[in-house]
Amino acid sequence: MSGILKGQFDHLSETLGRDRVLADHPVGPYTTFNIGGPADAFYEATSAEELAGAIVLARNADLPFFVLGLGANILLGDKGFRGLVIRNAAKRVSVSEEGILEAESGAVFWPDVINIAIDLGWSGLEHYAGIPSTVGGALWQNLHFLSPAPGRERTMFLEEVVLDAHILSPDNIRRRVTADYFNFGYDQSIIQHSGDIVLIARFQLKKADSETMRRITKENIEWRSTRHPPLDTEPSAGSIFKKIEGIGAGRLIDECGLKGTRKGGIEITHRHANIMINRGGATAQDVLSMIEFVVKTVQEQKGYVLEPEIAFIGEF
Ligand SMILES: Cc1cc2nc3c(=O)[nH]c(=O)nc-3n(C[C@H](O)[C@H](O)[C@H](O)COP(=O)(O)OP(=O)(O)OC[C@H]3O[C@@H](n4cnc5c(N)ncnc54)[C@H](O)[C@@H]3O)c2cc1C
Repeated sequence: MSGILKGQFDHLSETLGRDRVLADHPVGPYTTFNIGGPADAFYEATSAEELAGAIVLARNADLPFFVLGLGANILLGDKGFRGLVIRNAAKRVSVSEEGILEAESGAVFWPDVINIAIDLGWSGLEHYAGIPSTVGGALWQNLHFLSPAPGRERTMFLEEVVLDAHILSPDNIRRRVTADYFNFGYDQSIIQHSGDIVLIARFQLKKADSETMRRITKENIEWRSTRHPPLDTEPSAGSIFKKIEGIGAGRLIDECGLKGTRKGGIEITHRHANIMINRGGATAQDVLSMIEFVVKTVQEQKGYVLEPEIAFIGEF
């Protein structure tokens, strides 16, 4: 508990529950990279109410906090997080007769939310099958997927089906905002800068045949399995560098011959040059030194400056 006062910790555990606030708790295993040190305090919110309550508590106590989804788009530092990590496990999902799917922000898209929609015959989310993401993390970056299927070869963005959301604003006011509030772009939304937290989101879906949607998810997952390392045996954070329009960061790295390069426990996978995998025991420092090496090599050989797309969280 190096960065948080004992009084602050006691206040958290008295309010949120003694057995539910964990001191010096390892956070790396809750990320898809399986890298990173402990949080001073760690709490798992199991409803939107609990999520909002924990954030208000941290803000009122001037305690730094971080809302963690599946940790699929972050690199957590080896020294961990000074403050409170709130793991969002608020997962309630319901669907109205008009095809409005309402999900708490910790609900996991694949397989949970997507399968509920498909089983009930509602279309719009099935394209994102196989991507690790909570609803909150997906809105944060406007989840997208370049469909490989004939007739559907285009990038689909989650914003196409977002109806509205319940957010907790930085001044702790809860309000409902419509999709345009998010100002979505490629890998962009307003909540990356505003400090708003998504509590609940609603998606407007369209009626469709469940079998057709199951076929789409199957095709997308098969396509992914040939290009992406499986998370259970080759932990990763997905693409490390931002896309360079018309060229592709992965292609540049590949053309520099960097696939298979290894630093400590980190390796650039042979499957996809923009993805690094944790070969076991990798540290955040390994990732940083690999990023530095790739940026330098691509700049020297290709003249492009790559920028990381993942977020760097905590102390390195
Ligand atoms: C193998 C693999 C493949 C991937 N493929 C794709 C792909 O095809 N397309 C794509 O778009 N992405 C892809 N990604 C990236 C990743 O899946 C997305 O960025 C995803 O949306 C991250 O969601 P998360 O719940 O893990 O968020 P986290 O990584 O936990 O958090 C990311 C950010 O969102 C913030 N956040 C989380 N929840 C909330 C909330 N409720 N309110 C406000 N802020 C919040 C966090 O604080 C953090 O800043 C891939 C990643 C992996 C590992």
